[in-house]
This record gives sequence, C-alpha cells and structure tokens, in this order.
Amino acid sequence: MPGGEGTVAAERPALIGDVAGVRSAAEGWRCAGERVGLVPTMGALHAGHLSLIERCRQECDRTLVSIFVNPLQFGPGEDYERYPRRLEDDLALLRAERVDAAFVPSVEAMYPAGATTRVRVGEIGEVLEGEHRPGHFEGVATVVLKLFNAVRPHRAYFGQKDAQQAALVQRLARDLDTGVEVVVCPTVREPDGLALSSRNAYLEEGERIAARCLVEALRAANRRYLEGERDPERLREAMLAVLRAEPLARVDYAEVVDERTFRSPGRLAVLAVRIGQTRLIDNHRLGQPLP
Ligand code: AMP
Repeated sequence: MPGGEGTVAAERPALIGDVAGVRSAAEGWRCAGERVGLVPTMGALHAGHLSLIERCRQECDRTLVSIFVNPLQFGPGEDYERYPRRLEDDLALLRAERVDAAFVPSVEAMYPAGATTRVRVGEIGEVLEGEHRPGHFEGVATVVLKLFNAVRPHRAYFGQKDAQQAALVQRLARDLDTGVEVVVCPTVREPDGLALSSRNAYLEEGERIAARCLVEALRAANRRYLEGERDPERLREAMLAVLRAEPLARVDYAEVVDERTFRSPGRLAVLAVRIGQTRLIDNHRLGQPLP
C-alpha cells in the first residue's frame, strides 16, 4: 500500500523542485503499478484546492500537488507580482493531507532561457476569459502540458470554479493524446456563497461583502431558469441587474453559454467581475441547485 504505516508523516510531502526529479518520482510510482494523480495549483491553498486533493487521494494511489505561480498566464498589469505566495503554510496543509509529493519549481526550472514553445488550444481559448485576458489560456495550456509531460499522471484534477480552463484542459488532453484523464470537481463556496479563490485574500472588508454579488447574480439567473426562462439575453439581464446594483462592481462579462464551446446559447452562466482592484470569476450550470 502506498505511503504505508512505516512512513513518518513528517517526511511527506517530498519536496521536488526540478522537472527531472518529478519525472523520476512519478515514473517510479507508475513502474510499481501505482495510479498517479496530479493536482496543479498556484498555491495559497484553500478548501477548494483541498477538495481536489481529497478526490485525488480517493481515486489514485499517489497524489502529487504542483505549486507554481505561472508567469506565462498573467498579462501585463495583472497581479503576478502580488499574487499570494504562502509556501510554508501550503506545505503544512499538504502534510496534513498526507500528499505524497509537492512539485514546487522555480520559474527558471519550468522555463529555462530560450524556451519559446507555446500551446494554443483554439476557439475555446479565444472567448470570455481568453478575450479579456489575452495570452492567458496559452500560458495555462503550456504549463499544463508541461506538467502532464513531466508527471505523466493517470488523472489530473481541476476545479469547476475555473470552468473555461477545465474545458480547455480537457480539450488539450484529448487533442494532444496525453492519455491523462481530466477530472473536474465541484466549486467549493464560503457559507454566503462566494466561491473560494486565492484572490479573495485581496478583498477589503467592504469589498468582501460586495463580492457576494457574483453568486447573487448566478442565483438570480438560476431562479429565472427554474421559472422556465430560456432566452440567454433575458437570463443575462437577470445577472446584470444584480451586478449593476452593486456600486463596487464593474462587469467584465456575464453570459449564458454552452459548456463545451463557451459560446451562447447554452446553460452555463459565467461571469467575471472586478470588485475594486480584484478580478473575480464564477459560474453555475443553470437548473442545478445553488447553495
Ligand atoms: P489556482 O491555484 O487558483 O490556479 O487553482 C488550482 C485548481 O484549484 C484549479 O483547477 C482551480 O479550478 C481549482 N479551484 C480553485 N478554486 C476552487 C474552488 N473554490 N472550488 C473548487 N476548485 C477550485
């Protein structure tokens, strides 16, 4: 049994900083016939991340968590520099979760000088988040493929919170024959409904209250949907009415789109809203309960 009784908890997780190291650790497990699960993150771990890790631990023999704030997926003027970095706290959480290994590469280890290759996923990466954050999904796709190539996991775990990213990674995994099964896990929310996000740490007290407008907008669209409304424009208006009523909110987009193409029409309500300096995203599949 992996990580059996003889293993001292304090030894976990093994901390790996280079691609060769993570490759050989994962290869060792695979060769021993163990199922390897990968949970890619940017750190500042919260209960949303932990839900992915728990699912991975249930389904795989080995759980490898990567922590890497990927500069490629941040645009100029975005929050790369100030993105929360809390490695010590993160490692303590991973230890408590009995994760087998943490892959925490430096930027130079992931992108040695002269590494210019980029992965572009096509249409799905060009709308909504892709349109508002040029280059973002190219950065995501590139780092995810690199992680898949280094680790060659059986399964990789992503959150529905970032629905377009999850769909794009599923597309990439299929199109490029990675052999990785991409598992998408439900969004974990605060008691008031706000989706957990590392970026919530940026919110000041008043902003934190204002941020409820994202889930409130999704609830409004969901109510209309459950009443029988199917016109994407009216569902969109239901979201915008809530968002416009919040003085601290500025809307990047609020749409109801298809879950695969991310184009209208469909039944996935998606939105991106700035609360002060903080840009938050959320989504909900209309017709399903939204706590
Ligand atoms: P991040 O560290 O923000 O890049 O997120 C790493 C992974 O955790 C991504 O697959 C996210 O979709 C997922 N994730 C982030 N927040 C949540 C949440 N509230 N519920 C579920 N998964 C999440």
